[in-house]
Amino acid sequence: EEPPAAMAVPQAGDPALTLLRRVGVADPASLDDYRAHGGYTALRRAFDLGPAGVIREVTDSGLVGRGGAAFPTGRKWQATASQPDHPHYLVCNADESEPGTFKDRVIMEGDPYALVEAMTVAAYATGAHQGYLYLRGEYPRAVQRMRHAIEQARARGLLGDDVLGQGYAFDIEIRRGAGAYICGEETALFNSIEGYRGEPRSKPPFPVEKGLFGKPTVENNVETLVNVLPILTMGAPAYAATGTERSTGPKLFCVSGSVARPGVYELPFGTTLGELLELAGVRDGLRAVLLGGAAGGFVRPDETDIPLTFEGTREAGTTLGSGVVMAFDSTVPLPRLLLRIAEFFRDESCGQCVPCRVGTVRQEEALHRIAERTGAAAADDIALLREVGRAMRDASICGLGQTAWNAVESAIDRLGAYE
Ligand code: NAD
Ligand code: SF4
Repeated sequence: EEPPAAMAVPQAGDPALTLLRRVGVADPASLDDYRAHGGYTALRRAFDLGPAGVIREVTDSGLVGRGGAAFPTGRKWQATASQPDHPHYLVCNADESEPGTFKDRVIMEGDPYALVEAMTVAAYATGAHQGYLYLRGEYPRAVQRMRHAIEQARARGLLGDDVLGQGYAFDIEIRRGAGAYICGEETALFNSIEGYRGEPRSKPPFPVEKGLFGKPTVENNVETLVNVLPILTMGAPAYAATGTERSTGPKLFCVSGSVARPGVYELPFGTTLGELLELAGVRDGLRAVLLGGAAGGFVRPDETDIPLTFEGTREAGTTLGSGVVMAFDSTVPLPRLLLRIAEFFRDESCGQCVPCRVGTVRQEEALHRIAERTGAAAADDIALLREVGRAMRDASICGLGQTAWNAVESAIDRLGAYE
């Protein structure tokens, strides 16, 4: 099974890159090639530093989660490492499903050993001996490459009972998702691995305390984990010199839509939206940019000076999320696009809680009525959307329901979508 390649990396081969430097350069099927391109130096350094030393480096680097929520990685690792309950687990969230997000796919297809090495470092630092890679089912090439990389690493003593001859045991099991967006939510993902319905659990308790099988669990996104490799090889201060004070390091951005060169771009945090769009070759007649995916928000073409950082997008009243930048030109019918987003949330709601189960249906119905009237909105439809949106945001159990109204709200308030 070899699906068509979709690895769009316009900067491939650029030696100045950090996260993508091996993608398109090193053979993703060859462990020797990975090592020849710097592979496994980070794990060696991790063994020299010891678990506490690794956590210190990660904390000092300022690394925050790249799945979208930007939680400090060092804090998460420390919280798990210090739990007296055992065993500890490591879960890599590779169920990348946010519409417009395809960066983790590029890493897994183009540099799979990097993820194996990074998972080993994370597990070592947090006292885990078993890792799970929960991989989006619609990524068959990534599954194939990760499976091969794990087998090769195991055969060469880089996974198993005695990793690198250091007396440390760690192995990785792949679990494939089955197409549900909600299974990317960390606690729904745990339920899925455990064999239950993919429904989120209430937090707290957070996974660092009670996660997979009720045990202390570190759950990190693919991109978050691979950042740990340069942090260890270059040291925290050098890593933190890239980006801004509160968003350190490089970031992968997924650019799609009305641009000449769509794909994954690696840029330092702090690059402006306009600079990124220029690289991607934005076409004439830009109408709107969706930041952060369906759970994110729209911004106008005159707002492209927004710095692409977690704090900068927050201050601008929007979100960076997992790094989605979707450009729309004036040929795209906004009411139809918003309806599509609403359909997506209605379809993907797990149905466990009322605000989201009912709210996503009511939202879709209102947008459908508006779209049928060729985009003209009655005042009571907008009022209903706002009321339903508020209820979903305030009362839903998980991020899906809490964010299901974001894009529609921003289209109304920032773009004047129905004026
Ligand atoms: P969250 O803010 O609840 O949690 C973020 C992480 O920090 C979680 O791992 C959580 O366990 C941990 N955490 C939070 N507070 C903690 C505490 N006090 N102690 C210990 N750990 C703590 O966010 P979330 O619901 O996990 O994720 C929402 C994000 O996911 C959104 O930003 C959205 O953009 C993103 N998202 C990404 C994708 C994708 O495909 N990458 C898909 C859907 C959503
Ligand atoms: Fe399920 Fe939606 Fe409630 Fe999340 S907010 S638990 S997806 S019904």
